Amino acid sequence: MTEYADLILSGGTVVSETTSFEADVAIKDGHIVAVGEAAAMPSAAETVSVAGLHLLPGAIDMHVHFREPGYTHKEDWGTGTSAAAMGGVTTVFEMPNTNPPTRSATEMKAKQVAAEKACVDFGLYGLLAEDNIDELQGLIEAGANAFKCFMGNTFGNLPSPSTGAMLEGFEILAKTGHRISLHAETASIMALRQQKLQAAGCNYPLHHVAARPDIVAVEAVARAAHLAEWTGARIHVLHISSAAELIPLADAKRRGVDITGETCPCYLLLNTSDYDRLGSVIRVNPPVREAQDSAGLWDALLSGVVDMIATDHAPHLPEEKRKDIIWEADCGFPGVETQMPLMLTQVAEGRMSLEHYVKISAVSPAKSFGLWPVKGRIGVGAHADIAVVDLNRKETIKAERLHSRGKITPFEDVETTGAPVHTLVRGAFVQRDRSLVTGMAGHGRQVTDIQQMPEPAPKNADRFLSSVLAGKSL
Ligand SMILES: [Zn+2]
Repeated sequence: MTEYADLILSGGTVVSETTSFEADVAIKDGHIVAVGEAAAMPSAAETVSVAGLHLLPGAIDMHVHFREPGYTHKEDWGTGTSAAAMGGVTTVFEMPNTNPPTRSATEMKAKQVAAEKACVDFGLYGLLAEDNIDELQGLIEAGANAFKCFMGNTFGNLPSPSTGAMLEGFEILAKTGHRISLHAETASIMALRQQKLQAAGCNYPLHHVAARPDIVAVEAVARAAHLAEWTGARIHVLHISSAAELIPLADAKRRGVDITGETCPCYLLLNTSDYDRLGSVIRVNPPVREAQDSAGLWDALLSGVVDMIATDHAPHLPEEKRKDIIWEADCGFPGVETQMPLMLTQVAEGRMSLEHYVKISAVSPAKSFGLWPVKGRIGVGAHADIAVVDLNRKETIKAERLHSRGKITPFEDVETTGAPVHTLVRGAFVQRDRSLVTGMAGHGRQVTDIQQMPEPAPKNADRFLSSVLAGKSL
């Protein structure tokens, strides 16, 4: 029992993925040292009343684009992590489609320098592309937490790897156990359709959906799952947008493939009926689809076929988003600050329990990417990464108030119920009373030191290209 704590959060309700209970939480040196009745708490330097509020494990967002280096007019590590802090997000995993892309140890080290101004904790994705298979080991040694494979093009237009390069990359990463996150849309289908639509003068927002029908996701998820099944690589399907791709996802899970999946608020809360109203602002890859897709995604999120919520935080300037010709509008929008208010609103409306929200926003990402039990829970020994939430707080989303540099959102003027009123990262307030705490730049740390993936489980290793070349088989 610790005799003296730094901070006690007193009188709140602690929420886990299975239950909620009133308890005080004591924090020392960034860790939770006691959870329980007030009488059982150690004495502390500071006690903050959180009576009437709920303590959630801070959200862990496996999918953000903070644009630095290369596109800092859209976002940088300071603005991106400030937005996260305001959104109750305490850990982010950041994507490699910066300029230059995070394709080798050199760029990984440069990104670690850029991230030194982060105020929340973070992981960094290395790129898995056609031409950098020989760099994967160097990326791991430089601290890559996971890998990103763009099966379909998106911002940055990194060429998609061939299935051959994907297999070789999967073989290498199956041996190390790093999870590979997939932009699972098949590039060749989309390129052909978009080219023909453009040539025919089809320039409306809904033509973006027509260029990327759900078969692009079905084909890509199924193909990646087969490669993962054969190699034993761990994979994660990013931004699931369609009901159809849930079928190969669920099927792969049944076959024992180590596969997880995420969806994002836009796919749950928007559909094709919003395209006229939102115009090119709604353009995102993959596209927002039909109402029946949203319904299927909700079912899958509640049943566990979809494991987690992420945001695909992808900021652009308003003038880069508002275009008359849909193909000229940049894809994506900021999300890391609005996810929690939007999803807590769904909790308030009875669509999901608060405990399930904790599961999909913190527990599942922590477990899938090796951060559990240090992150993703409020319990003794864990990092004190906490979103203190007022479930009754009413707000209206306004892009101009977002802390991202991308001051545009498809959720403009949406009224929300529930918001994080304080955010703590390893015991320190980074957001307090709905205001950013100044002077916290640099508080954020890369999670490399705590990430513990289960033992790698490669299959067919004797037939991996490296084994064949080494003369170990045949
Ligand atoms: Zn993305």
